[in-house]
Amino acid sequence: MHHATATAAALAVVRTRYPRALSTADTVERLLGLIHAKLGLAPRRIMLGDSICSDDLNAIEYPPRASEMLGPFKLGGLDGFPFAGLTGMSAFAHHVPANGAIFLFHGPHIGIARDGTTGVLHRPGQSHPSACCGAARAAVDKVLAGRVLAGEVTDLDYQQNTIEQILLPHRARLAAARSAVAEATELMYDAIEARIDALVARTAYPCRHVIVMGGVLINAEVDAGSFCCFRRLVHLDTASATRDDWLPALLD
Ligand SMILES: [Zn+2]
Repeated sequence: MHHATATAAALAVVRTRYPRALSTADTVERLLGLIHAKLGLAPRRIMLGDSICSDDLNAIEYPPRASEMLGPFKLGGLDGFPFAGLTGMSAFAHHVPANGAIFLFHGPHIGIARDGTTGVLHRPGQSHPSACCGAARAAVDKVLAGRVLAGEVTDLDYQQNTIEQILLPHRARLAAARSAVAEATELMYDAIEARIDALVARTAYPCRHVIVMGGVLINAEVDAGSFCCFRRLVHLDTASATRDDWLPALLD
């Protein structure tokens, strides 16, 4: 269990960069309440998928009540890009329980240390801070050093090379940023959201309700847990082909 005081202290630090950040644990609680109120569905009727970074911190800091849903189906790879692609998205969609709903969370992540340093964290058992997201940090460094060639994607490092290619056209923006890794996180958010939308649009659903939530996931030190700056919460009704913005209701 996270110490409430550590969580509150970390949230105050996180909000200096992400003013609207919320605790992921609290938000899952609210989300489950919202889905129940809107659709009458209990957590066991919801198939959860996530597109978040492979980083072990994201497993350590996974919001506890998320496990009340089915899943998670893991769509993400390094920094949360949905590398599972169309086949992963389709498999995920077809694992939904009868008369249930699909819930998908997507987003890149960034560490914020106790002293507010952005893009690093002390990991459990380590005495020195390290990069978080390490993949984003490495890609930024390589792009800024001019060592990324357009179109160079290798079998041995496919995911990392893909991130490098996403960031490469934005070299000037990264170079000018106060925090290049925070800027890269914004670029990754946009790339992930666009790819998720492309996958969602090309997937057939055996259920009526598809709920998509996006945000920047923020890792604090493990005693404080994780936070998120939520960017969207959309409900798609596949029966009526309509979409509703649920974000105001969630944040209300
Ligand atoms: Zn990462």
